[in-house]
Amino acid sequence: MSDKYDVVVIGSGPAGYVAAIKAAQLGLRTACIEQWLDDKGKLQLGGTCLNVGCIPSKALLDSSYKFSEVQKDLGIHGISVNQAEIDVPIMVARKDKIVLQLTRGIGGLFKHNGVTAIEGTAKVLAGAKVEITDHEGNVQVLEAGKVIIAAGSVPVSIPPAPIDDEYIIDSTGALKLTEVPARMGVIGAGAIGLELGSVWCRLGSEVVMLEALDDFLPMMDVQIAGEAARILKKQGLDIRLGARVTGAEVKNGRVNLTYSSADGEHTETFDKLIVAVGRRPRSEGLFEADSGITLDERGFIYVNDNCETEAPHVYAVGDIVRGPMLAHKGSEEGVMVAERIAGKQAQMNYDCIPSVIYTHPEIAAVGKTEQELKGDGIEYKIGVFPFAANGRALAANEPEGMVKLIAHAETDRILGCHIVGASAADLVQQVAIAMEFGSSAEDLALTVFAHPTLSEAVHEAALAVDGHAIHIANRKKR
Ligand code: FAD
Ligand code: NAD
Repeated sequence: MSDKYDVVVIGSGPAGYVAAIKAAQLGLRTACIEQWLDDKGKLQLGGTCLNVGCIPSKALLDSSYKFSEVQKDLGIHGISVNQAEIDVPIMVARKDKIVLQLTRGIGGLFKHNGVTAIEGTAKVLAGAKVEITDHEGNVQVLEAGKVIIAAGSVPVSIPPAPIDDEYIIDSTGALKLTEVPARMGVIGAGAIGLELGSVWCRLGSEVVMLEALDDFLPMMDVQIAGEAARILKKQGLDIRLGARVTGAEVKNGRVNLTYSSADGEHTETFDKLIVAVGRRPRSEGLFEADSGITLDERGFIYVNDNCETEAPHVYAVGDIVRGPMLAHKGSEEGVMVAERIAGKQAQMNYDCIPSVIYTHPEIAAVGKTEQELKGDGIEYKIGVFPFAANGRALAANEPEGMVKLIAHAETDRILGCHIVGASAADLVQQVAIAMEFGSSAEDLALTVFAHPTLSEAVHEAALAVDGHAIHIANRKKR
């Protein structure tokens, strides 16, 4: 059997489903192939992000934050609560309900926009044809005008700590625990480790994080990473840097782990061990050798700036191609590709992609870090404003952290913004918008910000770039 579509999208994660909806909105006959089935064998749209990534992790982060707030932070407001208790299965069921609502929502959006969802595992053949094998083994081939591959990524595993899905788990396992482990180990202090480590730490686990690198969050601005490490350690996360895991063995229902660091060999015992050491592109079996598609040296599908692969009419977007593994990056690539297929002149600005780690407080960034600018030999000036000097932050009992704005030394154009603090994700987005418009630090400084808001910290950081902050003593000019 053969069927013809203008666009066939492989994968229904945030890169694929957004590309499919956009393509259909632009009048293209579009199908989206997805292999994921739910527990009942029904097609499950939404990919990693909606099912086992962004959304479920944020649901647990929000629940666990409320629990820790009731336990630790309400006293200062004069509110006392006799004894807060957490029912983990209810918390997890709430998370599952949100996932269901959103994944079903994508099915609804597909129907509304006329996208055909097809269940099965897709493989790209030569000539931009797509072979689909469903879960009963039936095979069909779709003729595609254009193919968009959005097959995403999977967790990286490491030989010393193989996943057994019971005691040694990956991020997916850590999202469905039904009780709070007394002692939890986390390998990798990146985005997943910090977010899921925070969830279980807030609920009462003693969390030890083992990070191989000597630096904490090296991709973040070094000043912000240092401040974040201080705050998170104060919350109880035991973050150990320069720790190389050498083995993990399950014995009597516990994980015995060994690691080496500068001060020697160590042994730790945990009730659960989360392995969160990164993700890799899911490119196995995705295309035939004669399709023309190639991989780069790290296994990502090779694409140019417009997400075109080496094979004519075949594009790839999201986690399966170079760039940060972020849902919004994949979605914007999906939009760009759909628009280009429809004949529009779309482009993606890779220099202005915000990234956020949703600890409390959040750690957020857009643009260049101070260390990157130093490395590139670019002259810059910085403005830093601490939340401790922001009225609204104090009113909300959120005095930790700071906003750091970096501008070009001569042109004053904003080059980056780095924040650790309450609502950092939303605050950094304000600067991302300014950067998209080519704003200078002075443009932000001349903007009226509502009082009292956390946003005023962004305003003051912009003022501080040229030594004009009002609510702190200004630093002498560099
Ligand atoms: P995916 O979401 O991985 O979707 C790919 C889809 O393709 C899957 O559904 C898969 O089943 C399907 N597929 C694969 N191969 C085939 C095939 N051959 N045939 C048919 N279907 C196929 N990012 C953020 O921006 N913010 C966050 O807060 C955030 N939190 C995260 C938390 C966790 C715990 C994890 C694991 C990730 C998180 N991420 C976050 C990263 C984010 O989930 C990914 O960047 C995003 O999901 C990538 O989207 P994608 O569409 O490229 O791939
Ligand atoms: P990551 O790359 O963010 O962090 C992995 C960490 O593990 C790194 O610090 C790395 O140095 C460390 N590591 C690697 N091997 C190790 C080893 N053998 N022993 C100890 N430490 C080791 O990856 P992640 O946290 O697994 O997340 C995967 C992807 O998902 C990331 O690309 C991330 O962008 C994305 N994600 C994003 C968010 C968000 O945007 N809030 C949340 C979760 C995940």
